[in-house]
Amino acid sequence: MGELKDTEAYEEELIDYEEEEEKAPDSAKPVAESGKKGYVGIHSSGFRDFLLKPELLRAIVDSGFEHPSEVQHECIPQAILGMDVICQAKSGMGKTAVFVLSTLQQVDPVPGQVAALVLCHTRELAYQICHEFERFSTYLPDIKAAVFYGGVNIKVHKELLKNECPHIVVGTPGRILALARDKDLGLKNVRHFILDECDKMLESLDMRRDVQEIFKLTPHDKQVMMFSATLSKEIRPVCKKFMQDPMEIYVDDEAKLTLHGLVQHYIKLQETEKNRKLNDLLDALDFNQVVIFVKSVSRAAELNKLLVECNFPSICIHSAMSQEERLKRYKGFKEGKQRILVATDLVGRGIDIERVNIVINYDMPDSADTYLHRVGRAGRFGTKGLAITFVSSTADSEVLNQVQSRFEVDIKELPEQIDTSTYMPN
Ligand code: ADP
Repeated sequence: MGELKDTEAYEEELIDYEEEEEKAPDSAKPVAESGKKGYVGIHSSGFRDFLLKPELLRAIVDSGFEHPSEVQHECIPQAILGMDVICQAKSGMGKTAVFVLSTLQQVDPVPGQVAALVLCHTRELAYQICHEFERFSTYLPDIKAAVFYGGVNIKVHKELLKNECPHIVVGTPGRILALARDKDLGLKNVRHFILDECDKMLESLDMRRDVQEIFKLTPHDKQVMMFSATLSKEIRPVCKKFMQDPMEIYVDDEAKLTLHGLVQHYIKLQETEKNRKLNDLLDALDFNQVVIFVKSVSRAAELNKLLVECNFPSICIHSAMSQEERLKRYKGFKEGKQRILVATDLVGRGIDIERVNIVINYDMPDSADTYLHRVGRAGRFGTKGLAITFVSSTADSEVLNQVQSRFEVDIKELPEQIDTSTYMPN
């Protein structure tokens, strides 16, 4: 009964969230309009201009970052002052470093207290974000970050929180909520609350409910930051409900969201011709690493099996695997142990694998947004890349048309010959 009441209370709140209309953001600041026309991505200022801790600057240098990207230039100076930030910028332009650096800059580690909480929608992304915190805190040994997600024995997490409570917690909502409800994870001292891929997290009502419940366990007075490559007009007010007078950064409008440096093509073919075509492409194209997206777990497993039988260095990742296995494979691929990854949309968002320069949509994604996130796996941080999409039905053609009109991109049929220099790094 108690539970039912809780659920009803949430429903009411959720309705409340959706019903309230917000005015168009006056303070929104589309960067494209602020004089910096043409997408350059990298700003001429230096990280030194942000007056970051020397320990952070050292780690930035170690990471090989020379100049801040546009989104870093726009957000970091405000974020390190504790302002709330809502930020939409193309995939691969360094949004992660915005919240990782500004959190590390601000956190004053107190033993036994969690000062920052980062939530995201998949386990792989959580793992990757935690890794970024570790990388940039190399010279801040007192600050500890840890990652928490389902699929791992909860006892392990409880022990960790009891014995070595991290200052920065990264995780997926379900596990974080379970740990907070059981009082293993104390959120009373959280000063920074971050949602990555925030639209994805708040669009799904189940996840939104979890996020809200976690949010309510944190103090009122804190910094809230939210990030995504896609932030529709509908979801922005929902995000802003969690914030106080946030700084809004929309790097370029949606129509220009497609990725600079990414060559995009499609191939029209029958469903039955896909395997043959894929085989030919993998033989003919030069690539460092390639991700092949399919629409279901069973197709991922089948296609991967086929590729392995044809002696391609391929692995697959999908949600039907154990968490341990998924991460092991993800890490292996990231380290370059295999060159081909067959995946479902599980790795469609946020995941950053430097060497991936080709994405193949073996199955058409279900929406223009998903397309953008998937192809964003190639051509990260302004590097070159190639995206090839198989179109085998009228529904597929419709999605392709939506992509072209929404992101103002002209996707042409794959030519017989494609110049390697257009998509391979120099
Ligand atoms: P996003 O979250 O916007 O999709 P990421 O934060 O994953 O993008 O960054 C994409 C890649 O670019 C990562 O490999 C990251 O290490 C790298 N990167 C980020 N900022 C810089 C920078 N200023 N200089 C060089 N590389 C950067």
